[in-house]
This record gives sequence, structure tokens and C-alpha cells, in this order.
Amino acid sequence: MAVLGIFGTETADVASSIYYGLYALQHRGQASSGIVVNDDGVFHSYKDSGLVNEVFTPSVLSSLGLGQLAVGNVRYGTSDSKDRINAEPVVVNHSKGKMAVSLDGKLVNGVELKNEMELKGSIFHTANDAEIISSVIIHERIHSASIEEAVCKAMYKLKGAYSLILMSPQKLMAVRDENGMKPLCYGQRSDGEYVVASESCALTSMGATFIRDIRPGEIVVFSKEGIRTIKDHCNQKPERLCVFEYLYTARPDSVIANCSVHLARKRAGAMLAKAHPVEADVVIGAPDSGIDAAIGYAEQSGIPYGLGLIKNKYIGRTFIDPGQNVREDKVKIKLNPVVETVKNKRVILVDDSIVRGTTCARVVKLLRDAGAREIHVRSSAPAFLNPCYYGTDISSRKALIACNHTTEEIAKIFGADSVGFLPIEDVFKLGEGGDCKGYCAACFDGNYPTEEPVDYGVNKFERKISEREEK
Ligand code: SF4
Repeated sequence: MAVLGIFGTETADVASSIYYGLYALQHRGQASSGIVVNDDGVFHSYKDSGLVNEVFTPSVLSSLGLGQLAVGNVRYGTSDSKDRINAEPVVVNHSKGKMAVSLDGKLVNGVELKNEMELKGSIFHTANDAEIISSVIIHERIHSASIEEAVCKAMYKLKGAYSLILMSPQKLMAVRDENGMKPLCYGQRSDGEYVVASESCALTSMGATFIRDIRPGEIVVFSKEGIRTIKDHCNQKPERLCVFEYLYTARPDSVIANCSVHLARKRAGAMLAKAHPVEADVVIGAPDSGIDAAIGYAEQSGIPYGLGLIKNKYIGRTFIDPGQNVREDKVKIKLNPVVETVKNKRVILVDDSIVRGTTCARVVKLLRDAGAREIHVRSSAPAFLNPCYYGTDISSRKALIACNHTTEEIAKIFGADSVGFLPIEDVFKLGEGGDCKGYCAACFDGNYPTEEPVDYGVNKFERKISEREEK
């Protein structure tokens, strides 16, 4: 999921600016896209299922009109929330005005909060947490002097990972949870407009100069009076940035916590080469996010890097599509091997991660069919052993191949000669030289930054199984 916002004092085509920024963030979500434009307090919004360019045709975009502020969102669909109705931003009218909310993340106490708010009279229409967050903020707003005060109070109730952009008639607010799990940064354009985005690559594409990351727990308010920052929730909890941002989620040209994602991935590849060396003729990367790590592996090992796989750029990322059937169909038409690179060669295939193993098994077969003599699979992420409760679609231990098989068994399933994962201790060195003080790596090591959601369906199921086994 990705959030994007723009704040200006002059009337301008802010819808088009958000449109181009969302394009740069499309890798973070492909199920739905939405934009809300604020023209002197009047909101115009449009959202639907689909990619940014599918949802926003020229006529739809122009129907949003001009404005001074705008927010946008791209979202990926988990199995319970892929419908059109769950598209964001969420727009709500309340007794003291109106508000648009765009969210990247997931609450661990969403069900409890929803129940609580329903008992207080709230009615919900979607399965997304942005609506729950809106409801909590609106409730606080009744007894608060300002929207930012209401947001600050609401944060005492919100548990989980969230990077938020909120828009009121007069203000744009950027908010990060106390652990700082999801990235969020802001910059400024030469015409003075401020841009807030999930990743710095969107700032660049919108012609904005990066200023800084929003700090964990911080609320930054952009208004006609200037920029104000509220730090009541800062330094309350240890920083725990999602380390999967460096490995997979973010774009390599983004900089998160003062560390280049591209360099972090190269570092992962170099550490992988040290941990799992093997004699080979060529190192290739699984496009797209395996390529940076493959370059790092090649540089560290001295084995030449080669272009071994070509990706059809018009197919979406397999990992974030809902449903196993859809995933398998897409893998079949997504990649083609470069025979000249791999034929009769001992090949090291570096992938960004191995979650379910579907893609990797298919790629190994493609390389075998293209004449590769040996195939050694290397994952620049550690083995996935736990679900993610914070908005990344790693939902069930049952589906995680490393949860149910040894490394040797995985190699056999893939038809590979060997498999190696990045050691868990190396994952905490990815952002070396940057500003981040701590990471969430719970899907690898089980050390969750927050309480686990007791209502989480899969978790409840797994608890029942383990309770039964204990008996
Ligand atoms: S559990 Fe994994 S994917 Fe989820 S926030 Fe933590 S590191 Fe990121």
C-alpha cells in the first residue's frame, strides 16, 4: 500500500500531480487506486479497483478539477479486502467538517476498535482499517480543539503499523506509528508545494526535493500557517522499520532512513555470497528486486553477473496478487530465460525472497529447460517462518514453504542443486550507514513489535492446532 499527499496555497492541477506520484508508487499496490482533491474545502474524489492508469482515464482525472490540496492511495488486495468498496482514500463527513484518510499499514486491534466504535454508533461500510482509524479520530474530534489534537488522542488507541496522510478542509497531516514501521517522507517543489509520500521515488517523480523522513510517532501538520510538528508520540517505543522494505517492497531508487534501497539490496547480496558460496559460472537475478542483490553477490564472489531472465514489464508483481490460481497463471507468462547466458552453465539464481515458492520453482524449471547445467538458488531474504500482521500479505504459516520444509527439501521441490537463505543476523545490517535504529523482522524471527492480534483468523486456527498438539 502507498500513500501520497500534496499541500499548496495556490489553486493548481493537484490531481495530475498525485496521478504521476501514484504511478511511481504503483509497485506497492495494484488492486485499487484513489485520489481526493480539495478545492477550498470542497472535496472531489474518485477511486476504483485497478491500476492508476486504468482507474484514472483523462476524463476521470479532469473531472476532479483543480484544488490546493490532494491525497492519493494505491492498495493491494488481501483475500478479505480486494473489493472495489475497500479502495482508499476514505472520505468522511462529520459534525465538525470532513476528512480524507489514506493508509499504508494494518492495525492489530482493528477488530476490537471496530466493535468499540460500533457500540458508540459508528456504521462501517468497508473491510479496510482506514475507515476504523477515521471513526476513532472523528470520535476524538468532538472533544478536541483541532483535528491534529484529535489525531494525537486517537493514536493512543491505534495499535499496529500505520503511515497515514489525512486531509481536512484546511490542512494536510502526515502521521507515522510509534514504531515507525512503514516509511513516510516529505519534500518540497520549486513552486512551494509540499509533497508527502510513502517513498522518496514519488517525490522525485513529482519534481519535489526530499526534505526528511517523518519520525516514528510524529504528526506533521501542513497548513497556511506553515509546518508544525507534534511529538507527543515520539520516542515512546523502539523504532522498528519493516526490514522487508529494503528487501522487496520499496523501489531501489528510493532512500529510506537515509539508506539507499539499491545499496541495501546489494549489501544483502554480498552477505549472501559470504554465507552461501558456491562454484559457478554466472550469477543472475530474478527480476526485478532480485537484480540488485545478484549484482552484490557477483561483486563479492567474483563470479560474473549475467542477464539471465527477461521480465514482461506489463505483468504485475506476482506476490501481491490475491489468490493462488491467479499467481500461478501470471508466473507462466511473466519471465523468459536468456538462453545464451545460462546454457551449459553453472548458474546462481538470486531471488529477493522465497515465500510460497511458486515463482522460484517455475523459474528453476525455465532455466533447466534453457540448458542450465547446475542451478543454485540464493534468497536475499531469510526464510519466512511467520505471518505478517502489518499489511504485507504473508498470511499463513501453512503457505510458507520454509515453514514446512528443510532447505534440502526445498531444493528438491524446486529441482535446484542447492538453496541458501540470507542468515537472519545479516538482515539487521541492511541499512548500515543510515539513520534507522531498529527493525521489524518478525516474519523471519517471530519477534513482533506489537502484541499479536488475538482475532486474527489464521492465528486463531494455528493456536487451536498447537493447543491440540500440546494435549
Ligand atoms: S512482519 Fe515482516 S513484512 Fe511484516 S512488517 Fe515485520 S518485517 Fe515487514
